[in-house]
Parts: sequence; C-alpha cells; structure tokens
Amino acid sequence: MSATEVGTGAANEHGRTRPDQFGGPAGALALIIVMPTISFYVWSAVAQHGGSLWLPSSVAELAAMVPVPTWDAAAIFAAWLALQAVLYVVGPGRVVQGWPTEHGERAEYRINGVFAFGVSAALLVAGVALELVSPRAVLAQFGPLLTLATLFAVVAAALTYVAGRRRAHLERSTGNAIYDFYMGTILNPRIGRHDVKFFFESRIGMGAWGAFAILLPAAELETHGSLSTAMLVVSLCQLIYIVDFFVFESTLLSMIDIIEENLGFMLWFAFLVWMPFNFTLQQQYVLAARPELPTAAAIALVVLNSAGYFVFRDSNLQKQRFRRDPTRRVWGKSPVTMDTARGTKLLVSGWWGLARHTNYLGDLTMAFCWCLACGFGSIVPYFYVLYFAPLLLNRERRDHAMCKRKYGADWDRYCEKVPYRIVPFVY
Ligand code: NDP
Repeated sequence: MSATEVGTGAANEHGRTRPDQFGGPAGALALIIVMPTISFYVWSAVAQHGGSLWLPSSVAELAAMVPVPTWDAAAIFAAWLALQAVLYVVGPGRVVQGWPTEHGERAEYRINGVFAFGVSAALLVAGVALELVSPRAVLAQFGPLLTLATLFAVVAAALTYVAGRRRAHLERSTGNAIYDFYMGTILNPRIGRHDVKFFFESRIGMGAWGAFAILLPAAELETHGSLSTAMLVVSLCQLIYIVDFFVFESTLLSMIDIIEENLGFMLWFAFLVWMPFNFTLQQQYVLAARPELPTAAAIALVVLNSAGYFVFRDSNLQKQRFRRDPTRRVWGKSPVTMDTARGTKLLVSGWWGLARHTNYLGDLTMAFCWCLACGFGSIVPYFYVLYFAPLLLNRERRDHAMCKRKYGADWDRYCEKVPYRIVPFVY
C-alpha cells in the first residue's frame, strides 16, 4: 500500500510522509501560535480577570498577559524535574520492554509511577502540613511557571527536531520544517536507556497535574480556611484519574502517544503546559470565584464521574487483557474476535463491540463532570471539555486512519460489525 492510497502517517520508501494532518504546514503553524496563546489567555482570564472572558484591545495588550519568568519559578521547575528524574531512575520498579517500533527497536521502561507519584505527593502534603511549603506562595509562581514551561517546550521541540533530522532513518518526517517541528521527527528519543517521551508524559505531565491538583485545594484552605464543595469534587475526581494512570502506567506503552506519535512541539507542549496548567483550570477558577455547588449536585457529579471512570478503565483493560490473552472471557462470555491478515486479532465484543472507542466516551464523561462542578458563572472553566471533545473526535479519526493503514480491508470489516465510533447507538 502506498502513501498516496491512505495518506495519514503512511511512510513512503524514503521514510517520508505527506504533511496531511492538522491542516498541513499552515495548520501546524497556526497551532504552534494558538496553543500557547490560548494557554496564557485562559490563565489570565482566571488570574487577572476574575474568571471572565476578556477582549484584548491590541496585540501589545495580548502580549502583556505573558508573565515574566522569576528565579523562584525557575527553582520550583528545576526542583520538580530533578526530583522526578531521580525517582524515575533510582526508584524501585520493574523494567519492561516497549512495543517494537517499525524499525524493530524496543526501548526499556521503568514502571515505578506509583512510587514516584506517591513519594512526590507525600513530600508535598508533609511540606504543607509542616508549613515548610506555602501553597499560596507556590501558586503565586503559577504564571511565571507557565512561561518557563512554554519556553522549555519550544527549546526541547527544537532539540528533538534536530536530533530526528540527524538520524539515519527518518521517522515519518515530511521535509517541511514547520510541520516536522510540530509533529516531530523522532519517535522515542532516549537519554541513555531512558525514553524521554515516556518520562515527560508520565512523570512531568501527569505528575505535575497531580501536584497542582493537591496544591490548589491546599491554597484554598490556606486562603479561606475552608475547602469548597466544588474544589473537593474536582480535585478528588482528578486525583482518582491521576492515581489510576500511575497504577496502570504500563498501559501507556501501548497508547498512540508512545507507539505512533513522534515527539515534536505538539507533545512537548501537551506534556509541559497543557496537562499541568490547562487541566487544572477548574480548580484555578474555583479558587478565584468560589462558586457554590449544592450537595445533591456534588453527589450526582461524583456518581456520573464514577460511571465515566468505569467505562474508561474497563474498556481500556478489556483491550489490554485481550492483547495478552485473546481467549480470555469478556463480560462472562467467550470473546467474539476477528482474525486479520496482519496477524493480530480484533476484539468485537464487550465495550469494543458496542463502539470503536467507548474509552473516549468514559474520558469525556469525566471531563464534563469536572467542568460542571464549577457551575454556570463563567464559560472559562469549561475550556477543558470544550477542547477535549474535539481533540478526542479528531484522535478517533486519526486512529481510524492509522488502523485502516495497519489492517486494510480487515478494518473495514470490523467497522461494518461495529458501526459506532464513540457513543454506542448514537455516534
Ligand atoms: P486506544 O487505547 O483506544 O488505542 C487504539 C488502538 O487500539 C488502535 O490503534 C488499535 O491498535 C487497537 N484497537 C482498536 N480497536 C481494537 C479492537 N477492537 N480490538 C483490539 N485492538 C483494537 O487509543 P488511545 O491511545 O488514543 O487512548 C487510550 C486512552 O487514553 C483512552 O481512554 C483515551 O481516552 C485516553 N486519552 C486521554 C487523553 C487526555 O488528555 N486525558 C488524551 C488521549 C487519550 P493495535 O491493533 O495496533 O493494537
């Protein structure tokens, strides 16, 4: 099959692909500008405009919202990076092999996320309890940290772009500098034996998100002397999601991010900025605006979040277990499976028989709950679900194209058997 037949991500005989995702080079350039602008804008809306949307009167006013980095922020940033690197490298944990790349390479991964996040969270909680760490003081550096993380993402993306270009074999790059800077030119860059992408996604992205999910309620307690119901609901639900991620950390190795996406600006920015800063916008808003959340609504949201979590976790586990043992029973019955010319089977029962990505439905349900907890006083805390829904819709389309490339006509047969993409019987 040639690149022109399928397009998305398919390499030609020179290892090159066509720049056909996210609107090509023009779309990539737009995203390189828009992603940081949005991140600074929503931060500013909460931190400087009381949670309201604001209209800049000039480009200069828009640029002025970008906080100047401080030495305190640099020290926090460096300390977090160093702590996570040490915990990752020397912390106890099993070492597993990743999936083979298309060039037959297999990276090694140290699976000790529960230990690393546990130690980091314990240090943070102890520091706050012993009044060695002031959450309010740390969060006063939130803006400068956002600037530093953005700068780090730009520099890191430039370095990995150059590293990828120097490799003997091209990893699905296109030759278009802007597009390749955004999408990346290297799949699994390593420092020594350690995969940089895995470390930054798991320990920096998810880990820093978890740290902020602890610090933001702590700052509310420090400032107001009490924890609001909205803050409790959002941080609790997010921490369940984050701890779950670390418990099932090895499943990251079979996710699209690790096995398919090159490490370019898109992922660097997602790990360093989008996850820690934008995913906690709800708590940032609650801290600033303190919306009321009635107890009945809080209970309803926790129940809905739990249902979303169940769909998310159970569907992901079903696929993972199926990959290990295709005969394992699914929902108490022998699984319905489909043989493919590629050699691997596709699961056609359980969640994977209801729709092709029910795992995305679970994720979206949780995202919606976290936003709803903030009430209806502002649209700003809804940013998470407003961006996450199109992201997952787009991701489903991209995965569909990748599966079509991997499985060819077998994927068409699977789609005939399971016609719904994300929501059973609806979409
Ligand atoms: P999936 O885990 O859904 O993996 C898709 C892959 O699974 C396909 O490429 C295919 O690969 C395999 N597959 C598809 N259908 C079947 C089937 N019927 N039977 C067996 N294998 C099948 O994709 P993601 O990595 O996108 O998502 C993983 C989780 O991460 C999701 O729950 C998602 O919601 C979450 N996520 C969260 C984000 C966030 O920002 N919070 C961002 C992105 C994802 P192959 O056949 O090669 O194994």
